[in-house]
Amino acid sequence: MAATILDGRKIADEIKNEIAVEVAALKDAGKRAPHLAAILVGDDGASHTYVNNKIKSCKKVGFEYTLLNFPETISEAKLMTEIDRINADDDIDGVIVQLPLPDHISAAKVTDRILPHKDVDGFTNENYGRITSKKPGLLPATPFGIVELLKRYNVPMEGKHCVMVGNSRTVGAPMSSIMSYHENATVTVCHIYTEDLAKHTKQADILIVATGKPALIKGDMVKDGVAVVDVGITRLPSNNERGYTLSGDVDFEEVSKKASFITPVPGGVGPMTIASLLLNTLKAATTASTITTKI
Ligand code: NAD
Repeated sequence: MAATILDGRKIADEIKNEIAVEVAALKDAGKRAPHLAAILVGDDGASHTYVNNKIKSCKKVGFEYTLLNFPETISEAKLMTEIDRINADDDIDGVIVQLPLPDHISAAKVTDRILPHKDVDGFTNENYGRITSKKPGLLPATPFGIVELLKRYNVPMEGKHCVMVGNSRTVGAPMSSIMSYHENATVTVCHIYTEDLAKHTKQADILIVATGKPALIKGDMVKDGVAVVDVGITRLPSNNERGYTLSGDVDFEEVSKKASFITPVPGGVGPMTIASLLLNTLKAATTASTITTKI
C-alpha cells in the first residue's frame, strides 16, 4: 500500500489560516499584532531564502516584522548588544537569529542571550531544559512542528518505538526529549558513532532523521509500516535553473514503498518549522491563544 504523505505545506497553511483569524481578532480588540524580529548576518544565499520565507509568512498571517541584516564582519559583542536592545523593546514579542553565524561568533552564546519568553525558535538553554518540565516554555520550532504534523495525521506515538537519527542540540536532542516526555514514546537516539545504524532503524515504528547526509536511510533499513519524518535538507549541485536540487536524509523512492506515512523533501518539515515559529510568536505575544495545538 502506498504511504500517506505527511503534507507539511498543507498543514502549515491550515495553521497559518488559524493564526490569521486570531491576529484579526486581536486587532479588532484594539491590540497590536504580534511582532517578530529576525536577525540575519552576512550574505549566505540559503540563509536569505530561509529568512525571506519567514518574513513572507509573517505578512501572510498579519504579524509585524523587523528584519535586521548585519554585515559578516559584525563582532560578537555588537550582536549581543543588538539582542539586548530587542530584549528590552516591549513592542517586539519574538526574535530569531538565522543560523549559521560566521565562525568568529558563537551561535550558542548569541542564541542563549535572547530572553526565554522572546525565544520563538526555542533555542535557549532555558527553553530546552523546560521540555522536561510540566510547564514547557517555547518549544524548539522544528521538533514542535514535527509533533504537530504527526498529530494532525493521527500517527500514534504513545508506547511506540521512536528512533531518532541525529542528536544535535537544535533538532535531534530536543526532538527525542519531546517524544519521550510529552508523547510517551520509547525513544532510541542514534548518531554518527552508533554502531550498526540499520539494526536500530529497522526497529522503528516512527523514524525521525536529522543528519544532513543525503539519502542515508535506504529501503532495507526500515520495517514495513514505519512512519518516517525526514528533517534533512541538503543542496546538491545541479544543472537546473537554480543550480541545485534539495535532498533529504531518506531515500524517498525506496523507503516510501514500505512506510505507512512519510514526509516529502521539500514540503514536509520545512513549512512546519515556520508554522511553529509563528505559533511560538503568537504565544509569546499573548498567552490567551485559542488555537489548539496538540502539544
Ligand atoms: P548537525 O550537523 O548539527 O547534526 C547532525 C547529526 O547527525 C549529529 O547528531 C550527527 O551525529 C548525526 N549524523 C551525521 N552523520 C550520521 C550518520 N552517518 N549516521 C548517523 N548519524 C549521523 O545538523 P542539524 O542541525 O541537526 O540538521 C540536520 C539536517 O536537518 C540538516 O540537513 C539541516 O539542514 C536540516 N534541518 C532542517 C530543518 C527544517 O526546518 N526542515 C531545521 C533544522 C535542520
